Amino acid sequence: MSSHYDTIVIGAGPAGLTAGSCLAEFGLKVLILDEQNRIGGQIYRNVENASEENLQKMGEEYRRGLKLSERFRKSGAEYLGNASVWNVEPEGRVCYSKDGVSERITANYIILATGAMERPIPIPGWTLPGVMGAGAVNGLSKDADLCPSGTVVLAGSGPLLLLEAALLIEKKVKIAAILETTPKIPSPAVLTHVLKALLGTAFLWKGVKMILDIRKSGVPHYKGVTNLKALGETAVTGVEADCGSKKLNFSAEMLLLHFGVIPDSHIYRLLGCHMKWDQNQRYWYPSTDEWGRTNFEKIFGAGDGTGVSGALAAEFKGELAALEVTRCFGIIPEYERDRLAGPVLDALKKDSYPRPLVDAFFAPDPKRFTFDDATVLCRCENVTVGDVRNIVSQGVTDLNEVKAMKRCGMGPCQGRMCGPALGEIVAAELDTSIARAGLLTIRPPLKQIPLQEIAAMDIVSDGVDPANLFKNQSKKADH
Ligand SMILES: Cc1cc2nc3c(=O)[nH]c(=O)nc-3n(C[C@H](O)[C@H](O)[C@H](O)COP(=O)(O)OP(=O)(O)OC[C@H]3O[C@@H](n4cnc5c(N)ncnc54)[C@H](O)[C@@H]3O)c2cc1C
Repeated sequence: MSSHYDTIVIGAGPAGLTAGSCLAEFGLKVLILDEQNRIGGQIYRNVENASEENLQKMGEEYRRGLKLSERFRKSGAEYLGNASVWNVEPEGRVCYSKDGVSERITANYIILATGAMERPIPIPGWTLPGVMGAGAVNGLSKDADLCPSGTVVLAGSGPLLLLEAALLIEKKVKIAAILETTPKIPSPAVLTHVLKALLGTAFLWKGVKMILDIRKSGVPHYKGVTNLKALGETAVTGVEADCGSKKLNFSAEMLLLHFGVIPDSHIYRLLGCHMKWDQNQRYWYPSTDEWGRTNFEKIFGAGDGTGVSGALAAEFKGELAALEVTRCFGIIPEYERDRLAGPVLDALKKDSYPRPLVDAFFAPDPKRFTFDDATVLCRCENVTVGDVRNIVSQGVTDLNEVKAMKRCGMGPCQGRMCGPALGEIVAAELDTSIARAGLLTIRPPLKQIPLQEIAAMDIVSDGVDPANLFKNQSKKADH
């Protein structure tokens, strides 16, 4: 392991693996860092070690990860797992923690391929043991073939909710109900995307098959559900909700929530990358050019972290970023980059056909962001929605003032769990746009690490003044 690389890639999902493989194939010295111990990212989690039975259950999409891992293993790119990146600087410096030791390494270019995370939406009772993300349960079944042992309710919205429901049905998990918050009747906007989506029939067919499988199973499936609540004193014992005028109540030991995925933008924001707001999907994403370059010359982004578009698109974006970095090194001229990028851009375009339909169908309803005062918003610091409304009514003008006064977003998760809903609440209270309400400022360390780890870092011998370790972090994201 070296202290300098031509390129460091953060994230070993489809985007990072493809970018890293492509760069190494051109002879560049590449390191891929990931906090998971194995390559694959979210969708191809643990694919290299999956049993044939698990490969079959997870379907052809999962098996595709084997092709990526094969390319990566042949490419000569290095992989460092269990390595949590906690600081990145625009000049090309990266700090990560592994096995209780933090290191600082450098690179000419950095590709951020940090993927997406499940959109956290607070509901009453969401802090009770037994409430989990449906995607997190998906990860456990890939990592360790684990599945819930008691009765489960799945609730929320998005293709991954239905995918997880179909998988749990196949694994014979007892499901009391699927409660979709997606409206019963799709908005007219959905219809405008149907024709284009028909060009991507394989994707659509997969969705239809999933819904038919769920219907065949006989599991009660409700749409247009509102007022979701997890019930219980010390752990989940049931789930309550409304469906039109009907009151729903189910006994359950687990509630699996899922409200779609949003880009994991923490490193971009830490760096001070320009961010944009997607009004339809209601998430922030970094502004990049067609090659994934951010406003910093050495910093590129690829995959779902730059805007959620799925695993195949992540691969293609990883390849495009790698081609441009290769051109920057002078290994290929511009015309060769463009020639190699041509088929990738075509494939990316073809892959995107069904996306507007899916996005419109599962577009988060702004009404979903009206929360009860008593609901806990910031789980780390135990701040309720009412606490936030109260402080805003006292004259607070943006998100970071709420953070400074209530510690909302200052806990170990660094605002990952409360940040998106906090933006919605503050914007609604101030009767302003999310862009004006602001975005939580992110500071290092991004991940929870003991201070002694930072103190023990050998940065002085690298000529770094410890006082300057976090020097770029005072910049605020420019919206
Ligand atoms: C929980 C979850 C489950 C999903 N399951 C499926 C599925 O079953 N099927 C499907 O079609 N799509 C699934 N998706 C969507 C799918 O993840 C993406 O479309 C695709 O994986 C995106 O690829 P990517 O390379 O951009 O990112 P990812 O595959 O998410 O890979 C990003 C990698 O970056 C690493 N990383 C992030 N931050 C850091 C850091 N600070 N330090 C070190 N490493 C870091 C992560 O550990 C991760 O391995 C899921 C998404 C989520 C959030």
